[in-house]
Amino acid sequence: MSAESGLPLERRIGKKSAAVMEKHLGITTVEGLLGYFPRRYMTRAELTPIAGIPRDEEVTLLARVVSSTTRSMRARRGTITDIVISDDDGAQGLRLVGGQDYHGTVPGTLKISFFNAYKAKAELVPGQRALFSGKVTSFNGALGLTNPDFVLLDNDPFANGSKDPEKIAAMPIPVYPATAKLPTWKIQAVISTLVETADLEALPDPVPRLVARREGFLSIAEAYRLIHQPETGADWKRAQERFRYQEALVLQTSLARRRAAVAAEEATARKPDPAGLLAAFDADLPFTLTAGQVDVGETLAAELALNHPMNRLLQGEVGSGKTVVALRAMLQVVDAGGQAALLAPTEVLAAQHYDSIRRTLGPLAADGLLGGLGGSGSVQVTLLTGSMSGPARKQAMLDAAAGTAGIVIGTHALLSDNVSFYDLGLIVVDEQHRFGVEQRDVLRAKARKPPHLLVMTATPIPRTVAMTVFGDLETSTLDELPKGRAPITTHLVGLSENPAWAGRIWARAREEIDAGHQVYVVCPKIGTDDDGDFSPGESGPPPDEAGPDARELASVTAVVEHLLTEPALAGIALAPLHGRQDPDTKRAAMAGFTANETKLLVSTTVIEVGVDVHNATLMVILDADRFGISQLHQLRGRVGRGGLPGTCLLVTALEPDHPSRRRLEAVAATTDGFVLSQEDLKLRREGDILGASQSGGRSTLKLLRVIDHGDLIAQARGDAQRLVNMDPGLAHHPELAQAIDKYLNPEKEAFLERG
Ligand code: ADP
Ligand code: MG
Repeated sequence: MSAESGLPLERRIGKKSAAVMEKHLGITTVEGLLGYFPRRYMTRAELTPIAGIPRDEEVTLLARVVSSTTRSMRARRGTITDIVISDDDGAQGLRLVGGQDYHGTVPGTLKISFFNAYKAKAELVPGQRALFSGKVTSFNGALGLTNPDFVLLDNDPFANGSKDPEKIAAMPIPVYPATAKLPTWKIQAVISTLVETADLEALPDPVPRLVARREGFLSIAEAYRLIHQPETGADWKRAQERFRYQEALVLQTSLARRRAAVAAEEATARKPDPAGLLAAFDADLPFTLTAGQVDVGETLAAELALNHPMNRLLQGEVGSGKTVVALRAMLQVVDAGGQAALLAPTEVLAAQHYDSIRRTLGPLAADGLLGGLGGSGSVQVTLLTGSMSGPARKQAMLDAAAGTAGIVIGTHALLSDNVSFYDLGLIVVDEQHRFGVEQRDVLRAKARKPPHLLVMTATPIPRTVAMTVFGDLETSTLDELPKGRAPITTHLVGLSENPAWAGRIWARAREEIDAGHQVYVVCPKIGTDDDGDFSPGESGPPPDEAGPDARELASVTAVVEHLLTEPALAGIALAPLHGRQDPDTKRAAMAGFTANETKLLVSTTVIEVGVDVHNATLMVILDADRFGISQLHQLRGRVGRGGLPGTCLLVTALEPDHPSRRRLEAVAATTDGFVLSQEDLKLRREGDILGASQSGGRSTLKLLRVIDHGDLIAQARGDAQRLVNMDPGLAHHPELAQAIDKYLNPEKEAFLERG
């Protein structure tokens, strides 16, 4: 690491400022603070006009002081200084220019109150121009600011010493991620000092010279200067461009290195056995595999037969039949004497996989202790989850360790230290999102030799996300649905604008049942006193919307009670199903519905995956806004399976302009999983997308957005692959190697820098 980048801040900006940066931003080094990039840039023309300021928001205003009065407070000691500001054109040389013409609008005035603020009283005299920044509050009906931060324009810190009013007006103002105690311009002032005092030329540049030349990138010194002190919009854009590529390259090179390392490992080849379980399974398959399933199956079969590990991501539309593809791969491994583990993100999903895989295997699934590994004509399928009783779990663990269990299905309980396998040959991870690189590593460590790995996505993910989050995997896609799937029509039922529709839903359900079909009703909660069946996690609504909710949400118990008295459904057999029922009750509820004895099933998201009742044609999702896009898409994939067209009603009580309604509109607008996942990602924050793979203290990306910068990511991926091919140890690119270490291990790096 260059001495400059790890240099303690105080050596460049003084003890006092360094202490402030450490306290408020946790930054201690020169490179750390230079890497604290503006969140965005404003020009003076974009400052908030007073006439249009929004309540409860942070605003930055450029205005002139009209009057200032100071009075004593009545109830307490101290003074209040009331300042009235105006953004009419009282400017001398620093007029607002650009998009907004303030001559044409009514000038706004605003009252600002300062408590015991002697500096404000002394400096904010009539005629003075200043930038004010604070949260807009309303006071007796009038909007105002209380104790805002301000900076006088006589010493405009953003002007970079320039006196040319035209130039200043167009000059971008960097806006830093600020805190209440540390406003953006204080950060800006300190970083300005740093940019001037630091030896920018001595900073390490992770971008190889050849690439920098090809792309015409700024030097790293110039890029740091222009990202913090741009004189034009083009300046910061060019600077961002190079740092963004740099982020992509560091990330992609780390992934390319990982791919190369894994590919070089030795694994046990699991060759197909023409007389094994897989052959018997295929011979008895009740349907024909789709062309995609055949293709992917061949790829997997070939890779499993090689003596280095397969690392593959299988993505496909809901209902495209990924499970059977995975099962066939598992059988090949079992035939070759190995074990396969299937990892599901929740207990409910693990149990469903267990049931459906045993059902699919039929006589090929051995019961209890009779079976064993291939050769005996059947395979033992074992479930291992955290909630299993002590003896049952112990038995499952014994079966895994002894090799009696050929296929072990479980939750993250499989990751725990005391679970071991006799000969783990293949790991299948279902619903990828919650299993990041680190967790995959924990599982891989359970095999004597690196096992083969198949990761499956519940919903398709855009190519660039795959390249970033799963960039260490090769990708296969199932892009066709098995034949006989009928289209699903989805309607958004907004109860806030049409309360009468609440009754109409049940009449609609009755029509469906009278026509001989069946209905799912899905609720976000089990009872009136809980928060759902399992945490919505990655597939739930974005976390900022998943918080506590004042509304009484639909619960399975309350809805069942209501429907029993609903006239439209008089005499209809209905049953509840949720994760808190004991296993027998659950099984009986599901069996009754499968046998078409129960016409209407009221459940939680336990039916999200695995449930496959061809006669079900209507799905009613109550308080649908409580579910995430991919969850809704999964849920509605439960209807329209038997050649009968399906209908899905997304019921919500939210007002039409509530932001969560956008998710529902997106789901209603298309059944294309790729489009939906793109939409889902747009509505989420970047951190949530990268969350799983970035656990373990990885720094988050600053400028790179996987959704927006697909081409750049693809470019960096190609560059990274070439670099690693030519120079696997990165011996000729030490700066890039260091940047990767820093990215993967920010804490350790910070520690070393301090030490
Ligand atoms: P997903 O890809 O969403 O995990 P599943 O693996 O659960 O989908 O498959 C959905 C349903 O489709 C299951 O009932 C499965 O048995 C069935 N299925 C899978 N492949 C085919 C096929 N080729 N033809 C008909 N049905 C199929
Ligand atoms: Mg599935």
